[in-house]
Amino acid sequence: MPDLDVAVVGAGLAGLATAYRLASEGHRVEVFESEAVPGGRMVSARVDGYTIDRGAETLAPNGYPATWALIKELGLSREVHRIRHPVALWRDGRAHPWLGHPLSALTGAGMPVAVRNRMIRMMLPGLRHGMDPGNPADTPYGDATLAELGEKYGPELVRDMLDPISASAFGWLPERSAAAPLLSIVVRTRGVVRWRTYRHGQDTMVQELARRVTVHTATPVANVARDGAGARLTLADGSTRSARAVVITLPSPQVRAIHPDMPAVEAEFIEASTFSSVMRVGVLLDRPLEPRRGPRGPKLYAALMSSGANPLLCGITVEHNKCPERAPAGKGLVSLLISPRRVPELFEASDDVVAKAVIEAGSSIIDGLADAVVGTHVVRWKHALPEAPPAAVRAWTPFIRRDPSPIEYAGDWVFLRPSSETAAASADYTVPRLTSLLG
Ligand SMILES: Cc1cc2nc3c(=O)[nH]c(=O)nc-3n(C[C@H](O)[C@H](O)[C@H](O)COP(=O)(O)OP(=O)(O)OC[C@H]3O[C@@H](n4cnc5c(N)ncnc54)[C@H](O)[C@@H]3O)c2cc1C
Repeated sequence: MPDLDVAVVGAGLAGLATAYRLASEGHRVEVFESEAVPGGRMVSARVDGYTIDRGAETLAPNGYPATWALIKELGLSREVHRIRHPVALWRDGRAHPWLGHPLSALTGAGMPVAVRNRMIRMMLPGLRHGMDPGNPADTPYGDATLAELGEKYGPELVRDMLDPISASAFGWLPERSAAAPLLSIVVRTRGVVRWRTYRHGQDTMVQELARRVTVHTATPVANVARDGAGARLTLADGSTRSARAVVITLPSPQVRAIHPDMPAVEAEFIEASTFSSVMRVGVLLDRPLEPRRGPRGPKLYAALMSSGANPLLCGITVEHNKCPERAPAGKGLVSLLISPRRVPELFEASDDVVAKAVIEAGSSIIDGLADAVVGTHVVRWKHALPEAPPAAVRAWTPFIRRDPSPIEYAGDWVFLRPSSETAAASADYTVPRLTSLLG
């Protein structure tokens, strides 16, 4: 008799949602997490009354069906806050609001008319197709990168629009990532309209899920291997657990280290599925500041920098406008995102060096920033978001169609889509595969 029906490796959203669904069906499930707290890339830090989302920060009202199903089931609807302010494009020394919003058709959101026209021409095939997020290999854009799409529709489109959006949302470089996953998110979420966040921190759902399943924190898994008809887990302390099945939910670049003996069809996709790295700095302020805007411009939730508009930053989130509960009353919190082109040189730098550099760069965008700083919180994610390179798009179909096996996977990378919705949706893909084995 194995120790468990299913052992889940990793207590991020994908692992927790998988464990919750399997436990609800009556299976004996336990989750093994290397960190001291569950949540993975959805954790939030709490410092002196400020709440800093270290990973994910928002969710969309459309295109997030698996997430909204969980919100309803877990009774979290009242925890969801509707963001009232728009996203802007930073250009020519000020923020131009309504980027990604239907209103940008009127206002332009700081983009030249030619770029807007090219954007519409580029989006039309995707809108007509529908862009099923469950099938990233079947889209009108094939495995073309964002940069290759720029060659077709004009390089300004990439420089002024796709680069700032993909860099700030996913840490992507246009020459590395396939266009289809980004465009499918745009199509499915219907743009940046009425986006949401959890009122008391983006870790709300993962914390609630973790309360409902058995999670062993600070328990790294060292190895996962087939064992007869089931699988065996070896923990870092050398102890083992047997299970009828194991679900690995680590970011794809970390999977091989604990599971080297995977079948070729899995190895081909997992090797190809690289991740971007992201660095950002939460800047705690003694007053609520935000990027410079025009005289009648609305308050902003975020501003994205087009290529070359800032030497270091690709985006700023105004957290106290995203949700007032993120900062104490009368104070401010902004999150400064480092451009993916500058992340490699700063990744190993000390927190002090990083904080000083971003505050200097942010001071040209937020007037009075340096004088208002009361603290900083530097965040580094080596494996931040699935990068969806063309080779992974090509290897995806055989991977997703392989037969179920006692060692399965869940995680945002399984559908090559950099969003928490995909982590939640991957549980809905993996659980039926497991139950077909477990009976
Ligand atoms: C900076 C940033 C911003 C984001 N913004 C958004 C956003 O606004 N909206 C959105 O929808 N999505 C966003 N995302 C994406 C979202 O956070 C992820 O898609 C989602 O959290 C991934 O969940 P997961 O369970 O697949 O992976 P993870 O959360 O990475 O879970 C994997 C878990 O495995 C654990 N682990 C690793 N190694 C071991 C081991 N050996 N043994 C045991 N456990 C191990 C890790 O500690 C982790 O807890 C953002 C992500 C980042 C990084």
